[in-house]
Amino acid sequence: MEPIPVSTPSLNDHDIQAVATTMAEGWISSEGPPVQEFEKAFADVVDRRHGIAVANGTAALDIALEGLGIGPGDEVIIPSFTIISCLNQVLRSGATPVFVDAQRDTWNMDVSALKGLITPRTKAIIVVHIYGLPADIDQVVALATEHDIAVIEDAAEAHGQQLDGAPLGSFGDVSTFSFYSNKLITTGEGGMVLTDDDRLEAKFRELRNLSFNPAQRFVHEDIGWNYRMTSMQAALGISQLSRIDELLDYKKKVGQTYQELLDGTPGISLPLPSYRGSENVYWIFGIVLDPDSPHTASEMMKKLAAKGIGTRPFFYPLHQQPVLSKFGFEPTPALPNAEWLGKQGFYVPNGAGLSRSQQEYIAHTVREALVS
Ligand SMILES: *Cc1c(COP(=O)(O)O)cnc(C)c1O
Repeated sequence: MEPIPVSTPSLNDHDIQAVATTMAEGWISSEGPPVQEFEKAFADVVDRRHGIAVANGTAALDIALEGLGIGPGDEVIIPSFTIISCLNQVLRSGATPVFVDAQRDTWNMDVSALKGLITPRTKAIIVVHIYGLPADIDQVVALATEHDIAVIEDAAEAHGQQLDGAPLGSFGDVSTFSFYSNKLITTGEGGMVLTDDDRLEAKFRELRNLSFNPAQRFVHEDIGWNYRMTSMQAALGISQLSRIDELLDYKKKVGQTYQELLDGTPGISLPLPSYRGSENVYWIFGIVLDPDSPHTASEMMKKLAAKGIGTRPFFYPLHQQPVLSKFGFEPTPALPNAEWLGKQGFYVPNGAGLSRSQQEYIAHTVREALVS
């Protein structure tokens, strides 16, 4: 039996045709209409004035931080429970990361802990909507406004999700997305950085494209990156975006089926089905073993692999990343929830084409592994 992959992108004939058409028309680099069209269509969905398409979600964060002028002496508050992409440019820029613990139930940043971490040097707060459930971004924005701090909203795991009727990605001064192959909509590799601020938009476009000077092309007052998206990726993005509701409904249905099948299983926590009126879009379906569980996540993952079920561990807490010492940072005090999630969390298959009977098999195997 073929193992069940943890993630499979949903690609239909329309997606494939869109890419082929763009190529047939000769648009293969970032030049041409598809990139601008995708930027506009996605910015509309997120209710932003400007979208700048980039090579990936990590690039979007790099550009956001550099564009906001984050550098040595600045402090950036970031959740511990997220991907390394949120930390990379903070470290490279010479700024100091300040880590916040996760909430126990939503797995999102614990906003109640934020206030105590703000200092006169705090320049930005990164908020991540983890695994498809909205973080309390409105509360972060209120606090940040009071203290004149920029908010970067990383919505790479929550395309099409909303909070109080407003799209995620519309809250921060800057928001970022990834369109990697396992995200809710994909361009294969890809990302976007969005803002309503005209000055930031111009800066982001410069940084994306090697900081070419509009007046004198090969004369540079700044250095940027080549983080451009191709037309082929943009064409795929436009096609995926046109059926985002269908893609989200599928993830929701798979998530709800797991909830039903695993409901009441002792020894584990499941994702919250909804938060503050927003239904979980289940970018991934996570399972977290109780802190006193006789099992570890890696043992469980091994047992599931032996039964042909693909899994992946949760994020390893950023405040414990070995790389921090290379940048001269001392180990930070314990953040118990991020550490618990990092040690005891894993996720199960929820890619395209998963059948109900496969989900039943996976749920059954999880329950069996918990008692063996
Ligand atoms: C996937 C992801 C990224 C990175 O995106 P890439 O396109 O893989 O570089 C950044 N932030 C979050 C929260 C993500 O889930």
